[in-house]
Amino acid sequence: MGPLAFLRAARRRRALEQSPLPGDLWDRVIREHPIFRGLDPDTLRRLRELSTMFLAEKEFRPVQGAVPDDRIRVSIAAQACLPLLGLDLDWYSDWTTILVTPREYEVTRRDVDEAGVITEYDDRLAGEVLHLGPVVLSLEDVEASGRGDGYNVVIHEMAHKLDGRDGSFDGSPPLHRDMDGEAWRRAFTEAYEDLRAKVARAPRRRSRRRGPRLDPYAAESPDEFFAVACEYFFEKPILLKSEYPEVYGQLKLFFRSE
Ligand SMILES: [Zn+2]
Repeated sequence: MGPLAFLRAARRRRALEQSPLPGDLWDRVIREHPIFRGLDPDTLRRLRELSTMFLAEKEFRPVQGAVPDDRIRVSIAAQACLPLLGLDLDWYSDWTTILVTPREYEVTRRDVDEAGVITEYDDRLAGEVLHLGPVVLSLEDVEASGRGDGYNVVIHEMAHKLDGRDGSFDGSPPLHRDMDGEAWRRAFTEAYEDLRAKVARAPRRRSRRRGPRLDPYAAESPDEFFAVACEYFFEKPILLKSEYPEVYGQLKLFFRSE
């Protein structure tokens, strides 16, 4: 263990000893989110430890009048750490701040096409990540997450952070040494192309309402496909497994889930 890792480990031990999550608050958050149902006591204990360290290391910054109370903070921490059960908190070590907005927010996007024509349009966002920078989450969307219906803005944005660990948001996080990069690429490319063909005329906007299939928003780009697939992996694994078994299999290897 290098000196930095040693310091980090010491800091995390201290966080666990000095600022444990209040039991009633933790129990409530777990109870309120169906995605945590079915986790055995040992796994829940690990999730609670990761969430405690997450809260000690991340900084919540409310904007536009948002009020992220303790319940919301713990809820964000627990959902953000769910994908880390088979990994560790170092996967989130390249960012610190979570900007919290009350609800979806509007941004102006600017696209330049091949002919040099500039199009500006307003886009409504439930969350986003800034490269090496903060994660933005809308409280209203956090409240709609974790219900087991496929929608999870917290896991979605965390997936983008995992994806960007290797410096590029391309739908592929740095894979473990024992994984086959070619198998990953094949699985995701085929599934992405299949979904694009199916939803060629579907609306672009991301929606909280999820139908019986994978959210068409996943057909936007390979990185959105990865983020949406991660939401389903933890929210609605059976659907993902039946729609895109290869993708499900690769995510299982990546998240080292049982
Ligand atoms: Zn996204």
